Amino acid sequence: MKKQLFIAGEWIASEKYSELLSPFTLEKIADIPQASGEQVDCAIEAAYESRAMMASMPAYQRAEILEKLVRLLKEKEQQAAEIIALEAAKPLKTAIGEVQRTIETYKFAAEEAKRIHGETISMDAAIGGVGRIGYTLREPIGVIGAITPFNFPMNLVAHKVGPAIAAGNTVVLKPASQTPLSAYFIAELLEEAGLPKGVLNVVTGSGRIVGARLVSSDKVNMITFTGSPSVGIGIRNKAGLKKVTLELGSNAGVIIDKGTNLNTIIPQCVMGAFSNQGQVCISLQRIYVHEEIYDDFKQKFVAETQKLVCGDPLSLDTDVSALISPPDLERSLQWIKESVAEGAVIAIGGTTEGNVLLPTVMLDVNSHSKISCQEVFAPIVLIHPISTIEEGIKYINDSKYGLQAGIYTNDINTALHASNKLHVGGVMINDIPTFRVDQMPYGGVKESGTGREGLKYAVEEMTEMKLVIWNQA
Ligand code: NAD
Repeated sequence: MKKQLFIAGEWIASEKYSELLSPFTLEKIADIPQASGEQVDCAIEAAYESRAMMASMPAYQRAEILEKLVRLLKEKEQQAAEIIALEAAKPLKTAIGEVQRTIETYKFAAEEAKRIHGETISMDAAIGGVGRIGYTLREPIGVIGAITPFNFPMNLVAHKVGPAIAAGNTVVLKPASQTPLSAYFIAELLEEAGLPKGVLNVVTGSGRIVGARLVSSDKVNMITFTGSPSVGIGIRNKAGLKKVTLELGSNAGVIIDKGTNLNTIIPQCVMGAFSNQGQVCISLQRIYVHEEIYDDFKQKFVAETQKLVCGDPLSLDTDVSALISPPDLERSLQWIKESVAEGAVIAIGGTTEGNVLLPTVMLDVNSHSKISCQEVFAPIVLIHPISTIEEGIKYINDSKYGLQAGIYTNDINTALHASNKLHVGGVMINDIPTFRVDQMPYGGVKESGTGREGLKYAVEEMTEMKLVIWNQA
Protein backbone atom coordinates (compact mmCIF):
# COMPACT_ATOMS: atom_id res chain seq x y z
CA MET A 1 0.00 0.00 0.00
CA LYS A 2 1.62 3.25 -1.19
CA LYS A 3 0.10 6.33 0.45
CA GLN A 4 0.04 9.88 -0.88
CA LEU A 5 0.22 13.32 0.69
CA PHE A 6 -3.05 15.27 0.92
CA ILE A 7 -2.44 18.85 -0.21
CA ALA A 8 -5.01 21.37 -1.46
CA GLY A 9 -7.59 18.59 -1.78
CA GLU A 10 -5.36 16.48 -4.05
CA TRP A 11 -3.56 13.20 -3.33
CA ILE A 12 0.05 13.79 -4.27
CA ALA A 13 3.06 11.48 -4.59
CA SER A 14 6.35 12.32 -3.00
CA GLU A 15 9.90 11.77 -4.20
CA LYS A 16 10.88 9.86 -1.11
CA TYR A 17 9.02 7.09 0.73
CA SER A 18 9.77 5.23 3.93
CA GLU A 19 8.59 1.80 4.96
CA LEU A 20 6.01 1.66 7.74
CA LEU A 21 6.49 -1.49 9.83
CA SER A 22 4.03 -3.18 12.17
CA PRO A 23 5.38 -2.73 15.71
CA PHE A 24 4.20 -6.25 16.54
CA THR A 25 5.46 -8.32 13.58
CA LEU A 26 8.01 -5.80 12.24
CA GLU A 27 6.62 -6.59 8.78
CA LYS A 28 6.04 -3.84 6.23
CA ILE A 29 2.47 -2.54 6.17
CA ALA A 30 2.75 0.51 3.89
CA ASP A 31 5.01 2.97 2.09
CA ILE A 32 4.64 6.45 3.52
CA PRO A 33 5.50 9.61 1.56
CA GLN A 34 8.18 11.79 3.10
CA ALA A 35 7.16 15.33 2.22
CA SER A 36 9.89 17.65 0.98
CA GLY A 37 10.24 21.14 2.42
CA GLU A 38 8.59 22.53 -0.73
CA GLN A 39 5.64 20.17 -0.35
CA VAL A 40 5.16 21.30 3.24
CA ASP A 41 5.21 24.89 1.97
CA CYS A 42 2.54 23.97 -0.64
CA ALA A 43 0.37 22.51 2.14
CA ILE A 44 0.80 25.67 4.22
CA GLU A 45 -0.01 27.81 1.15
CA ALA A 46 -3.18 25.77 0.49
CA ALA A 47 -4.32 26.26 4.09
CA TYR A 48 -3.42 29.94 3.91
CA GLU A 49 -5.37 30.48 0.69
CA SER A 50 -8.45 28.71 2.14
CA ARG A 51 -8.57 30.84 5.30
CA ALA A 52 -11.00 33.49 4.09
CA MET A 53 -13.42 30.95 2.61
CA MET A 54 -13.38 28.88 5.78
CA ALA A 55 -13.74 31.93 8.04
CA SER A 56 -16.90 32.95 6.19
CA MET A 57 -18.48 29.47 6.15
CA PRO A 58 -21.61 29.58 8.34
CA ALA A 59 -21.58 27.62 11.58
CA TYR A 60 -24.36 25.28 10.45
CA GLN A 61 -22.29 24.24 7.42
CA ARG A 62 -19.17 23.60 9.49
CA ALA A 63 -21.30 21.53 11.86
CA GLU A 64 -22.87 19.61 8.93
CA ILE A 65 -19.45 18.56 7.60
CA LEU A 66 -18.45 17.29 11.03
CA GLU A 67 -21.80 15.50 11.49
CA LYS A 68 -21.31 13.79 8.13
CA LEU A 69 -17.83 12.70 9.23
CA VAL A 70 -19.40 11.21 12.36
CA ARG A 71 -21.83 9.19 10.22
CA LEU A 72 -19.08 7.94 7.91
CA LEU A 73 -16.83 6.97 10.79
CA LYS A 74 -19.67 5.09 12.48
CA GLU A 75 -20.16 3.07 9.28
CA LYS A 76 -16.43 2.27 9.14
CA GLU A 77 -15.79 1.73 12.84
CA GLN A 78 -14.28 -1.74 12.46
CA GLN A 79 -12.00 -0.71 9.57
CA ALA A 80 -10.83 2.33 11.52
CA ALA A 81 -10.04 0.21 14.58
CA GLU A 82 -8.06 -2.28 12.50
CA ILE A 83 -5.95 0.54 11.04
CA ILE A 84 -5.08 1.73 14.56
CA ALA A 85 -4.35 -1.81 15.75
CA LEU A 86 -2.12 -2.47 12.76
CA GLU A 87 0.02 0.66 12.79
CA ALA A 88 0.18 1.29 16.54
CA ALA A 89 -0.06 -2.30 17.89
CA LYS A 90 -2.97 -1.06 19.98
CA PRO A 91 -4.98 -4.12 21.08
CA LEU A 92 -8.11 -4.27 18.94
CA LYS A 93 -10.61 -3.86 21.80
CA THR A 94 -8.73 -0.73 22.94
CA ALA A 95 -8.60 0.47 19.33
CA ILE A 96 -12.38 0.03 19.03
CA GLY A 97 -12.70 2.16 22.18
CA GLU A 98 -10.52 4.81 20.58
CA VAL A 99 -12.68 4.92 17.44
CA GLN A 100 -15.82 5.25 19.58
CA ARG A 101 -14.21 8.14 21.42
CA THR A 102 -13.12 9.70 18.12
CA ILE A 103 -16.74 9.61 16.96
CA GLU A 104 -17.77 11.39 20.15
CA THR A 105 -14.99 13.94 19.77
CA TYR A 106 -16.16 14.92 16.28
CA LYS A 107 -19.77 14.95 17.52
CA PHE A 108 -18.82 17.39 20.29
CA ALA A 109 -16.91 19.44 17.70
CA ALA A 110 -20.02 19.64 15.50
CA GLU A 111 -22.08 20.81 18.48
CA GLU A 112 -19.42 23.30 19.56
CA ALA A 113 -19.38 24.86 16.07
CA LYS A 114 -22.88 26.18 16.82
CA ARG A 115 -22.09 27.90 20.10
CA ILE A 116 -19.05 30.05 19.49
CA HIS A 117 -19.87 33.44 20.93
CA GLY A 118 -18.49 36.36 22.85
CA GLU A 119 -20.13 38.47 25.56
CA THR A 120 -21.50 41.95 26.08
CA ILE A 121 -19.42 44.34 28.15
CA SER A 122 -20.94 46.75 30.69
CA MET A 123 -19.38 49.80 29.06
CA ASP A 124 -21.13 52.29 31.35
CA ALA A 125 -19.43 50.79 34.40
CA ALA A 126 -16.64 53.26 33.61
CA ILE A 127 -17.38 56.98 33.61
CA GLY A 128 -15.69 57.25 30.23
CA GLY A 129 -17.69 54.34 28.79
CA VAL A 130 -21.15 55.89 29.16
CA GLY A 131 -23.10 56.00 25.91
CA ARG A 132 -21.36 53.03 24.34
CA ILE A 133 -22.29 49.43 23.66
CA GLY A 134 -19.48 46.89 23.71
CA TYR A 135 -19.29 43.22 22.89
CA THR A 136 -16.71 40.60 21.97
CA LEU A 137 -16.63 38.18 19.05
CA ARG A 138 -14.54 35.02 18.62
CA GLU A 139 -12.84 34.91 15.24
CA PRO A 140 -10.92 31.97 13.76
CA ILE A 141 -7.19 32.19 14.35
CA GLY A 142 -6.32 31.20 10.74
CA VAL A 143 -3.89 28.46 9.75
CA ILE A 144 -3.26 25.84 12.40
CA GLY A 145 -0.24 23.53 12.32
CA ALA A 146 -1.28 20.35 14.13
CA ILE A 147 1.41 17.90 15.23
CA THR A 148 0.22 14.64 16.79
CA PRO A 149 1.73 11.62 18.60
CA PHE A 150 1.44 7.90 17.93
CA ASN A 151 -0.44 6.72 20.99
CA PHE A 152 -4.00 7.84 20.08
CA PRO A 153 -3.52 8.27 16.35
CA MET A 154 -7.18 8.89 15.59
CA ASN A 155 -8.63 10.58 18.65
CA LEU A 156 -5.77 13.01 19.15
CA VAL A 157 -6.01 14.05 15.51
CA ALA A 158 -9.74 14.59 16.21
CA HIS A 159 -8.88 16.82 19.18
CA LYS A 160 -7.10 19.16 16.77
CA VAL A 161 -8.93 18.82 13.44
CA GLY A 162 -12.41 18.77 15.05
CA PRO A 163 -12.23 22.08 16.94
CA ALA A 164 -10.17 23.70 14.16
CA ILE A 165 -12.96 23.06 11.63
CA ALA A 166 -15.65 23.90 14.19
CA ALA A 167 -14.04 27.31 14.70
CA GLY A 168 -13.57 28.02 10.96
CA ASN A 169 -9.82 27.50 10.72
CA THR A 170 -7.69 25.66 8.18
CA VAL A 171 -5.16 22.98 9.09
CA VAL A 172 -1.87 21.42 8.10
CA LEU A 173 -1.65 18.13 9.98
CA LYS A 174 1.58 16.29 10.61
CA PRO A 175 0.78 12.93 12.21
CA ALA A 176 3.37 10.83 14.05
CA SER A 177 5.71 8.92 11.74
CA GLN A 178 4.55 5.55 13.10
CA THR A 179 0.83 6.29 12.75
CA PRO A 180 0.11 8.12 9.49
CA LEU A 181 -2.58 5.70 8.28
CA SER A 182 -5.21 6.80 10.82
CA ALA A 183 -4.68 10.43 9.80
CA TYR A 184 -4.95 9.70 6.06
CA PHE A 185 -8.09 7.65 6.74
CA ILE A 186 -9.75 10.64 8.43
CA ALA A 187 -8.65 12.93 5.58
CA GLU A 188 -10.38 10.57 3.11
CA LEU A 189 -13.57 10.63 5.17
CA LEU A 190 -13.51 14.42 5.50
CA GLU A 191 -13.07 14.72 1.73
CA GLU A 192 -16.13 12.48 1.33
CA ALA A 193 -17.96 14.57 3.93
CA GLY A 194 -17.57 17.63 1.69
CA LEU A 195 -14.79 19.55 3.42
CA PRO A 196 -13.64 22.13 0.83
CA LYS A 197 -10.21 21.62 -0.76
CA GLY A 198 -7.30 23.11 1.14
CA VAL A 199 -9.01 23.24 4.55
CA LEU A 200 -7.26 20.09 5.76
CA ASN A 201 -3.83 19.16 4.45
CA VAL A 202 -1.92 16.10 5.66
CA VAL A 203 1.83 15.90 5.28
CA THR A 204 3.91 13.00 6.53
CA GLY A 205 7.62 12.74 7.07
CA SER A 206 10.18 13.33 9.75
CA GLY A 207 9.29 15.62 12.63
CA ARG A 208 12.51 17.48 12.20
CA ILE A 209 11.75 18.43 8.59
CA VAL A 210 7.95 18.61 8.33
CA GLY A 211 7.23 19.66 11.91
CA ALA A 212 10.02 22.21 12.01
CA ARG A 213 8.85 23.81 8.74
CA LEU A 214 5.36 24.25 10.17
CA VAL A 215 6.72 25.77 13.34
CA SER A 216 8.90 28.29 11.52
CA SER A 217 6.39 29.36 8.82
CA ASP A 218 5.06 32.94 9.01
CA LYS A 219 1.82 31.79 7.42
CA VAL A 220 0.96 29.45 10.30
CA ASN A 221 -0.86 31.27 13.10
CA MET A 222 -0.92 28.58 15.74
CA ILE A 223 0.80 25.30 16.56
CA THR A 224 -1.17 22.73 18.48
CA PHE A 225 1.20 19.99 19.58
CA THR A 226 0.69 16.77 21.48
CA GLY A 227 3.81 14.74 22.17
CA SER A 228 6.87 14.47 24.33
CA PRO A 229 8.04 17.32 26.56
CA SER A 230 11.46 17.61 24.89
CA VAL A 231 9.97 18.11 21.41
CA GLY A 232 7.26 20.40 22.80
CA ILE A 233 9.76 22.64 24.56
CA GLY A 234 11.84 22.83 21.35
CA ILE A 235 8.73 23.88 19.40
CA ARG A 236 7.86 26.55 21.92
CA ASN A 237 11.35 27.98 21.69
CA LYS A 238 11.18 28.23 17.90
CA ALA A 239 7.58 29.40 17.47
CA GLY A 240 8.19 33.10 18.05
CA LEU A 241 4.90 34.96 18.53
CA LYS A 242 2.72 32.14 17.21
CA LYS A 243 0.16 30.82 19.62
CA VAL A 244 1.31 27.41 20.89
CA THR A 245 -0.60 24.85 22.88
CA LEU A 246 1.36 21.91 24.24
CA GLU A 247 -0.15 18.66 25.50
CA LEU A 248 2.87 16.81 26.88
CA GLY A 249 3.76 13.86 29.06
CA SER A 250 3.49 12.88 32.71
CA ASN A 251 4.23 10.23 35.32
CA ALA A 252 0.69 10.18 36.71
CA GLY A 253 0.05 8.95 40.23
CA VAL A 254 -2.84 7.82 42.42
CA ILE A 255 -3.24 7.80 46.21
CA ILE A 256 -5.18 4.99 47.85
CA ASP A 257 -6.50 5.72 51.32
CA LYS A 258 -7.20 3.11 53.99
CA GLY A 259 -10.79 1.93 53.92
CA THR A 260 -10.92 1.83 50.12
CA ASN A 261 -12.75 -1.18 48.70
CA LEU A 262 -9.90 -2.81 46.82
CA ASN A 263 -12.03 -5.32 44.93
CA THR A 264 -13.74 -2.56 42.98
CA ILE A 265 -10.69 -0.42 42.30
CA ILE A 266 -8.03 -3.03 41.44
CA PRO A 267 -9.34 -3.75 37.91
CA GLN A 268 -9.50 0.03 37.24
CA CYS A 269 -5.94 0.51 38.46
CA VAL A 270 -4.63 -2.41 36.39
CA MET A 271 -6.37 -1.02 33.33
CA GLY A 272 -4.96 2.45 34.02
CA ALA A 273 -1.44 1.08 34.28
CA PHE A 274 -1.36 -1.26 31.29
CA SER A 275 -3.93 -0.04 28.77
CA ASN A 276 -2.21 0.52 25.41
CA GLN A 277 0.96 -0.91 26.97
CA GLY A 278 1.18 2.09 29.31
CA GLN A 279 1.64 4.38 26.31
CA VAL A 280 -0.95 6.87 27.51
CA CYS A 281 -0.03 10.38 28.66
CA ILE A 282 -2.04 9.84 31.85
CA SER A 283 -1.06 6.20 32.24
CA LEU A 284 -1.00 5.17 35.90
CA GLN A 285 2.72 4.98 36.66
CA ARG A 286 2.89 5.54 40.45
CA ILE A 287 0.54 4.04 43.05
CA TYR A 288 0.81 5.27 46.65
CA VAL A 289 -1.11 3.01 49.01
CA HIS A 290 -1.80 3.54 52.72
CA GLU A 291 0.42 1.17 54.69
CA GLU A 292 -2.58 -0.46 56.42
CA ILE A 293 -3.76 -1.91 53.09
CA TYR A 294 -0.47 -2.02 51.19
CA ASP A 295 0.13 -5.80 51.40
CA ASP A 296 -3.43 -6.62 50.43
CA PHE A 297 -3.35 -4.14 47.52
CA LYS A 298 0.00 -5.43 46.26
CA GLN A 299 -1.12 -9.03 46.28
CA LYS A 300 -4.47 -8.32 44.58
CA PHE A 301 -2.90 -6.02 42.00
CA VAL A 302 -0.31 -8.63 41.00
CA ALA A 303 -3.00 -11.33 40.81
CA GLU A 304 -5.13 -9.14 38.52
CA THR A 305 -2.08 -8.30 36.37
CA GLN A 306 -1.44 -12.00 35.92
CA LYS A 307 -4.80 -12.33 34.13
CA LEU A 308 -3.82 -9.98 31.29
CA VAL A 309 -3.51 -11.58 27.87
CA CYS A 310 -0.43 -10.50 25.92
CA GLY A 311 0.07 -10.89 22.18
CA ASP A 312 -1.27 -10.01 18.75
CA PRO A 313 -2.96 -6.58 18.65
CA LEU A 314 -5.42 -7.81 16.02
CA SER A 315 -6.82 -10.47 18.36
CA LEU A 316 -9.85 -9.39 20.39
CA ASP A 317 -8.57 -11.27 23.45
CA THR A 318 -5.36 -9.28 23.72
CA ASP A 319 -4.93 -6.76 26.54
CA VAL A 320 -1.26 -5.87 26.08
CA SER A 321 0.76 -5.94 22.86
CA ALA A 322 4.06 -4.64 21.49
CA LEU A 323 5.63 -1.34 22.41
CA ILE A 324 5.71 1.15 19.56
CA SER A 325 9.31 0.32 18.56
CA PRO A 326 12.22 -1.98 19.48
CA PRO A 327 14.26 0.97 20.84
CA ASP A 328 11.37 1.75 23.21
CA LEU A 329 11.40 -1.85 24.38
CA GLU A 330 15.15 -1.67 24.99
CA ARG A 331 14.82 1.63 26.85
CA SER A 332 12.12 0.20 29.11
CA LEU A 333 14.22 -2.87 29.95
CA GLN A 334 17.19 -0.62 30.68
CA TRP A 335 15.10 1.54 33.05
CA ILE A 336 13.87 -1.58 34.87
CA LYS A 337 17.46 -2.81 35.19
CA GLU A 338 18.62 0.55 36.52
CA SER A 339 15.86 0.73 39.11
CA VAL A 340 16.67 -2.80 40.30
CA ALA A 341 20.31 -1.74 40.67
CA GLU A 342 18.97 1.17 42.77
CA GLY A 343 17.13 -1.21 45.11
CA ALA A 344 13.78 -1.98 43.40
CA VAL A 345 12.15 -5.39 43.28
CA ILE A 346 10.15 -6.80 40.35
CA ALA A 347 6.87 -8.24 41.65
CA ILE A 348 5.79 -9.49 38.23
CA GLY A 349 6.91 -9.00 34.61
CA GLY A 350 10.20 -7.40 33.63
CA THR A 351 10.65 -9.83 30.73
CA THR A 352 9.69 -9.86 27.06
CA GLU A 353 7.83 -12.04 24.59
CA GLY A 354 8.86 -10.89 21.12
CA ASN A 355 8.34 -7.12 21.08
CA VAL A 356 5.93 -7.28 24.01
CA LEU A 357 7.13 -6.16 27.42
CA LEU A 358 5.10 -8.21 29.90
CA PRO A 359 3.10 -6.04 32.34
CA THR A 360 5.58 -5.13 35.04
CA VAL A 361 4.92 -4.23 38.68
CA MET A 362 7.81 -2.76 40.67
CA LEU A 363 8.16 -2.37 44.45
CA ASP A 364 10.64 -0.47 46.63
CA VAL A 365 11.44 1.91 43.77
CA ASN A 366 13.68 4.82 44.68
CA SER A 367 11.82 8.07 43.91
CA HIS A 368 14.87 9.26 41.95
CA SER A 369 14.86 6.19 39.66
CA LYS A 370 13.76 6.94 36.09
CA ILE A 371 10.86 4.49 36.54
CA SER A 372 9.48 6.92 39.12
CA CYS A 373 10.51 10.43 38.15
CA GLN A 374 10.46 10.29 34.34
CA GLU A 375 7.66 9.35 31.99
CA VAL A 376 7.98 5.60 31.52
CA PHE A 377 5.52 5.20 28.61
CA ALA A 378 5.58 1.40 28.89
CA PRO A 379 3.60 -1.26 30.84
CA ILE A 380 5.46 -0.57 34.07
CA VAL A 381 3.89 0.62 37.34
CA LEU A 382 5.30 1.08 40.83
CA ILE A 383 3.47 0.51 44.12
CA HIS A 384 4.72 2.30 47.20
CA PRO A 385 3.44 2.42 50.80
CA ILE A 386 2.60 5.72 52.51
CA SER A 387 1.80 6.36 56.16
CA THR A 388 -0.27 9.51 55.54
CA ILE A 389 -2.21 11.07 52.65
CA GLU A 390 0.08 14.07 53.00
CA GLU A 391 3.02 11.86 52.11
CA GLY A 392 1.21 10.66 48.96
CA ILE A 393 0.45 14.24 47.92
CA LYS A 394 4.12 15.10 48.43
CA TYR A 395 5.25 12.19 46.24
CA ILE A 396 2.83 13.11 43.46
CA ASN A 397 3.78 16.79 43.53
CA ASP A 398 7.49 15.92 43.59
CA SER A 399 7.51 15.64 39.82
CA LYS A 400 8.41 17.88 36.92
CA TYR A 401 5.06 16.86 35.41
CA GLY A 402 1.49 17.66 36.40
CA LEU A 403 -1.21 16.35 34.06
CA GLN A 404 -3.77 14.46 36.17
CA ALA A 405 -3.76 12.73 39.57
CA GLY A 406 -6.23 10.48 41.35
CA ILE A 407 -7.20 9.74 44.94
CA TYR A 408 -9.41 6.99 46.31
CA THR A 409 -10.81 7.84 49.73
CA ASN A 410 -14.09 7.62 51.64
CA ASP A 411 -13.34 10.78 53.60
CA ILE A 412 -14.68 13.94 51.97
CA ASN A 413 -12.30 16.16 53.91
CA THR A 414 -9.34 14.15 52.65
CA ALA A 415 -10.69 14.34 49.09
CA LEU A 416 -11.19 18.09 49.35
CA HIS A 417 -7.74 18.59 50.85
CA ALA A 418 -6.08 16.52 48.11
CA SER A 419 -7.97 18.33 45.35
CA ASN A 420 -6.65 21.62 46.75
CA LYS A 421 -3.07 20.48 47.21
CA LEU A 422 -2.34 18.34 44.15
CA HIS A 423 -0.51 20.46 41.60
CA VAL A 424 -1.90 19.03 38.35
CA GLY A 425 -4.29 19.99 35.55
CA GLY A 426 -7.03 17.64 36.77
CA VAL A 427 -7.78 15.79 40.03
CA MET A 428 -9.89 12.62 39.86
CA ILE A 429 -11.65 11.76 43.12
CA ASN A 430 -12.28 8.03 43.47
CA ASP A 431 -10.88 7.38 40.04
CA ILE A 432 -7.59 6.67 38.34
CA PRO A 433 -5.66 9.62 36.87
CA THR A 434 -6.11 7.91 33.50
CA PHE A 435 -9.80 8.90 33.40
CA ARG A 436 -10.71 11.07 30.43
CA VAL A 437 -13.80 11.81 28.39
CA ASP A 438 -13.38 14.07 25.45
CA GLN A 439 -15.42 17.16 26.26
CA MET A 440 -13.73 17.81 29.60
CA PRO A 441 -10.95 20.41 29.86
CA TYR A 442 -7.73 18.49 29.56
CA GLY A 443 -4.16 19.66 29.91
CA GLY A 444 -1.34 20.04 32.34
CA VAL A 445 0.84 22.26 34.46
CA LYS A 446 4.64 22.30 34.73
CA GLU A 447 6.30 20.20 31.99
CA SER A 448 2.98 18.58 31.11
CA GLY A 449 2.17 21.53 28.93
CA THR A 450 0.18 24.68 28.41
CA GLY A 451 -3.32 25.20 27.08
CA ARG A 452 -6.35 22.95 27.26
CA GLU A 453 -8.06 20.52 24.93
CA GLY A 454 -11.64 19.28 25.20
CA LEU A 455 -13.77 20.74 22.45
CA LYS A 456 -15.09 23.92 24.05
CA TYR A 457 -11.65 24.72 25.47
CA ALA A 458 -9.81 23.90 22.25
CA VAL A 459 -12.20 26.17 20.32
CA GLU A 460 -11.33 28.93 22.78
CA GLU A 461 -7.61 28.36 22.12
CA MET A 462 -8.21 28.31 18.35
CA THR A 463 -10.13 31.59 18.18
CA GLU A 464 -9.12 35.17 18.84
CA MET A 465 -11.18 37.66 20.77
CA LYS A 466 -12.25 40.79 18.96
CA LEU A 467 -13.81 43.71 20.79
CA VAL A 468 -16.44 45.90 19.09
CA ILE A 469 -17.61 49.17 20.64
CA TRP A 470 -20.46 51.33 19.30
CA ASN A 471 -20.50 54.93 20.26
CA GLN A 472 -24.17 55.96 20.47
CA ALA A 473 -23.52 59.64 21.00
P1 NAD B 1 7.07 12.78 19.99
O1 NAD B 1 7.31 14.05 20.72
O2 NAD B 1 8.23 11.92 19.67
O3 NAD B 1 6.34 13.09 18.60
C1 NAD B 1 5.14 13.83 18.54
C2 NAD B 1 5.05 14.47 17.16
O4 NAD B 1 6.07 15.46 17.02
C3 NAD B 1 5.25 13.50 16.00
O5 NAD B 1 4.36 13.82 14.97
C4 NAD B 1 6.68 13.77 15.61
O6 NAD B 1 6.96 13.40 14.28
C5 NAD B 1 6.76 15.26 15.81
N1 NAD B 1 8.12 15.80 15.95
C6 NAD B 1 9.26 15.15 16.33
N2 NAD B 1 10.31 16.01 16.33
C7 NAD B 1 9.83 17.22 15.95
C8 NAD B 1 10.41 18.51 15.78
N3 NAD B 1 11.72 18.71 16.00
N4 NAD B 1 9.62 19.53 15.40
C9 NAD B 1 8.30 19.35 15.21
N5 NAD B 1 7.68 18.15 15.35
C10 NAD B 1 8.44 17.10 15.72
O7 NAD B 1 5.96 11.99 20.84
P2 NAD B 1 5.40 10.52 20.62
O8 NAD B 1 6.47 9.55 20.97
O9 NAD B 1 4.73 10.40 19.29
O10 NAD B 1 4.23 10.50 21.70
C11 NAD B 1 4.45 10.22 23.04
C12 NAD B 1 4.44 11.46 23.89
O11 NAD B 1 3.24 12.18 23.69
C13 NAD B 1 4.47 11.14 25.37
O12 NAD B 1 5.35 12.01 26.02
C14 NAD B 1 3.05 11.38 25.81
O13 NAD B 1 2.88 11.66 27.17
C15 NAD B 1 2.68 12.53 24.96
N6 NAD B 1 1.22 12.64 24.88
C16 NAD B 1 0.59 13.66 25.54
C17 NAD B 1 -0.80 13.77 25.51
C18 NAD B 1 -1.53 14.88 26.19
O14 NAD B 1 -2.67 15.15 25.81
N7 NAD B 1 -0.96 15.54 27.18
C19 NAD B 1 -1.54 12.82 24.81
C20 NAD B 1 -0.86 11.80 24.16
C21 NAD B 1 0.52 11.73 24.20
